[in-house]
Amino acid sequence: MKSALRRYQLKRDADLLDDAHKIVEWCTKHMTLSASTWASRQENSNSIFRFFWEISNVDRTRQFTCRTVSGTQKLHSISTFSSSPPAIRIRTLACYCDYCMVGLDFECAYKSHVSPWQIVTLYPDMEDDLHNEVTPNEPQFMVDYDDLTDLVDIGDVFAVIAGEDNAEGVEYYLLQCNCTKSKLLNSVIDDYGIDYSRDDMIIKGTYFVQIPSRAKRYLAFERFHFDKTSIQFSHLVIGTKLHMTSVMLKGKERFQLQICDHERLLNVIRNRC
Ligand SMILES: [Zn+2]
Repeated sequence: MKSALRRYQLKRDADLLDDAHKIVEWCTKHMTLSASTWASRQENSNSIFRFFWEISNVDRTRQFTCRTVSGTQKLHSISTFSSSPPAIRIRTLACYCDYCMVGLDFECAYKSHVSPWQIVTLYPDMEDDLHNEVTPNEPQFMVDYDDLTDLVDIGDVFAVIAGEDNAEGVEYYLLQCNCTKSKLLNSVIDDYGIDYSRDDMIIKGTYFVQIPSRAKRYLAFERFHFDKTSIQFSHLVIGTKLHMTSVMLKGKERFQLQICDHERLLNVIRNRC
């Protein structure tokens, strides 16, 4: 499709195709077969039937100029993911299996050759653009045993209370949601080897792990095995929509959680026990 568009644009009398609407219109006219032509060709060969559609209800009021993600020309799947930290998900191949079509790509039927989604953080193009960063929602904390997990959307950073005497010696874990609250239809084992039973109410995400930092105003984190999904019991969620500021330090991704948010999480834990 990209080379067809390019060839057309190089023609002397070509109309300028400089936005999504014009491209969808052009592709529909020149790159799709009518249903009858397609049906007649189907008899002799395996023709491909292409569809083009324009998604027009995109909110473009929030501007964020970011650095280009390298290798995007090779990618067949890109999706929005989170606003804080600003991130997209990428996948080299597209998959249309029953699971991927409804967002349950962890169960992908073609796992063996379609690689999982990868999360890519978006960094501002210039330091000046920092203040233009997408304004995320307000963080939410649990004050009572309400259903805070209902508020966790894909891409949100959420906190779960850590079990006593955990190996990491932490009071809570931070994860980025990649599958919202749901009830398990079967027993499963997550990528960390932990068992969950049928009918458990769970939420899924990828971990952030705290790293040492001398900063006084924030705690520093980095992504931990972002290709591995952890399952958590939904009632253990104590905070969500946490703001994580992303920074690149010596080629390494770091994320900062404000001390005030950290303290609010500790408060929730204290009040719960
Ligand atoms: Zn799939």
